Amino acid sequence: MSDKFKGIEPMVYNSKINVPYSWWAGDTATKFFISLRDEKKIIAPRCTGCKKIFLPPRKVCPECFNENTEWVNVSDEGTVQSYTIARRHLESIPKNKKVPVIWGLIKLDGADTALLHYLDDVRPEDVKIGMRVKAVFADSRKGTIRDISHFQPVKSRV
Ligand SMILES: [Zn+2]
Repeated sequence: MSDKFKGIEPMVYNSKINVPYSWWAGDTATKFFISLRDEKKIIAPRCTGCKKIFLPPRKVCPECFNENTEWVNVSDEGTVQSYTIARRHLESIPKNKKVPVIWGLIKLDGADTALLHYLDDVRPEDVKIGMRVKAVFADSRKGTIRDISHFQPVKSRV
């Protein structure tokens, strides 16, 4: 960039593009979402080769390239692998969510991969990598990942 643009205020224009669309979720995601919606059960496909269990569900094992045709139940409890906090309201955050919003990468017991979801019912300063969390299902379920409303800390059992 030449010197004549140095110190010039960057111009930013905001706009919106609204493009309605729909697509088929695929048989793997469909099976997963129906289980969430109708049974409040978290299921995941297992590779027939390496036996890894994928959550989010994957149709094909990325290591063996086997089709993942076996399904297993996965716990609704797991461990926070990582997390991030949004302190301002981003476009991708539903309007009914209050900031700060916490996203956690959660490995549910029984799964070999981690699922990204909201952490709630916890203050940002209390979130820790390794903390135990449990899925909270939405009262009204529609067959989407938001059928799990969020994950909350597991209450200690004394
Ligand atoms: Zn595999």
